[in-house]
Amino acid sequence: MPYGYHGCYLRIDASRGSAERVPLANSVLRQYIGGSGLGVRLLLDEGGAQADPLSPGAPLIFAFSPLVGSPLTTSAKFAVVNRSPLTDRCNDSLASSGFALAGKQTGCDALVIVGRASTPSVIVVDDGAVRLEPAGAIVDASCSDTEETLRRQLGANYRIASVGPAGMRGVRYATISHDGRHAGRGGSGTILGSKNIKAMAVRGTARCEWADRDALTALSRDLAKRSTGPDTAKYRELGTAANVETFNRFGTLPTHNFQRGTFEHAAGLSPDRMRVAHAHTRESCVACTIGCEHIYAGTRVEYESLFALGSLCGVGDGDAVLRAIQRCDELGIDTISAGGTIAFAMECVERGLLHEPWLTFGSASALLHAIELIGRREGVGHLLGEGSRRAAQAIGQGSLAFAPQVKGLEIPGYEPRALQTMALGFAVGARGADHNRSGAYEVDFSGKVDRRHATRESVRHAIDTEDRAALMDSLILCKFLRAVFTDFHAEAAGMLQAITGWDVTADELRDTARRILAAKRQVNLLAGWTPEEDTLPDRFFDDPLPGDPTAVLTRGQLQALVAEYHHQRSGTAG
Ligand code: SF4
Repeated sequence: MPYGYHGCYLRIDASRGSAERVPLANSVLRQYIGGSGLGVRLLLDEGGAQADPLSPGAPLIFAFSPLVGSPLTTSAKFAVVNRSPLTDRCNDSLASSGFALAGKQTGCDALVIVGRASTPSVIVVDDGAVRLEPAGAIVDASCSDTEETLRRQLGANYRIASVGPAGMRGVRYATISHDGRHAGRGGSGTILGSKNIKAMAVRGTARCEWADRDALTALSRDLAKRSTGPDTAKYRELGTAANVETFNRFGTLPTHNFQRGTFEHAAGLSPDRMRVAHAHTRESCVACTIGCEHIYAGTRVEYESLFALGSLCGVGDGDAVLRAIQRCDELGIDTISAGGTIAFAMECVERGLLHEPWLTFGSASALLHAIELIGRREGVGHLLGEGSRRAAQAIGQGSLAFAPQVKGLEIPGYEPRALQTMALGFAVGARGADHNRSGAYEVDFSGKVDRRHATRESVRHAIDTEDRAALMDSLILCKFLRAVFTDFHAEAAGMLQAITGWDVTADELRDTARRILAAKRQVNLLAGWTPEEDTLPDRFFDDPLPGDPTAVLTRGQLQALVAEYHHQRSGTAG
């Protein structure tokens, strides 16, 4: 067994309540590392690319990494990998904290869940021994209540990942929650709920050895010191919420379902306004020295939630948006997909395509009511719980043109017409429109390219950010560290050398990133991907962006960029 790993995964059959340890070859670990990379490899090996995501046979994978449990800052993370019930494509979502540490201490590098329990249940993994317990009264509980109840019942040293009421009712963008953080996008919670599993409770005592403890300690101290410097100050001081007003100034703040790039009530969503109105604290994930989490009235507030439930729905009442975020967290639904789908429905009402006259842009009460209906799958909430693409297919009448999604995943808070490297990143993303698997917006804001007119040069930058993200998500390290590195690949190689003892190099890691992305594309090909999916909704080609006449994106231009992307990607699968 290599240092840093246990050399196996635990395959849990929820139908039988049984489990088996499956060995992992050293070559697989070195080629895919952990996290998203290892998870995607296991998804392919378990036949998950071809399985209906909501069928009992579909695997749901929790993947840890060699860095989990090490003293390296921000490394206490896990990836959840599956074929998405929202997009039908490859999905990997990440979350932080004690579940990653306790999960790895069960003595395995990944947990793979297959099957379906006959009644709502909790999977308990105790040092590698697995049992099912009835979920009982917590079936409809919020994620935080579920954690509290289970830790009281099972013991305080268990760490819990759970789904909320929405996941148990089949909302297609349900999250898996742990300690207030979410593996949020693409419906991994929907899959756990479809397996009749309300929660996973894990604890263990297994430890991994490090190959070079002294080197690892020195690297960790150095990284921790740099992580508290100026490169991360913006996350500590204001958090990502500060983006609301910054993006508004740039004209890139999606508003009224991407009909505009500016929002007249943006100040109502700013951190300054939030601090005046609500008790504010700052927190960190376990083993993090940065501490980017800004908590208002007990709720983690990030830019993506503010934009999706705020400007996208035309709601500038910060208190109402805070309440909307709280309800999404309690119900266990992805805030970006919830906001995107509600904003889409608001535009359908505005155009007379959907008869729900109460559901109007700017109405805080409509926003909150819609979230409740989605969580309960009642009334129009049943349709909206399907996500914007399926809702548009049901509504018809040309509404797919303005459903804010790519491959079925709702678009994050970056206006594609004015951020065209990001537009390419959204179009080609394996899991759909995504700002975490492609950091192309950084390129647009860097001044290295003309953000309103992407070129071949933009393609190369988009590929570089995608490669780096694949590596960070497999090691796993938090992306808020990225500006801290002077030579990320060389430093990452040094970390892996100290932990595993492998003679890994920066060039090897560049190949590893490409291999992982090729594996994601392989999942999509097996799942039925076609080239026509690599595009954006018609709105972004046909509708001008008010106030920014130079932000024009044509179909032909994006098609050429996508073709160039695939050309540059071809032959680099590693
Ligand atoms: S920087 Fe923020 S998201 Fe990243 S590990 Fe630290 S607290 Fe968690």
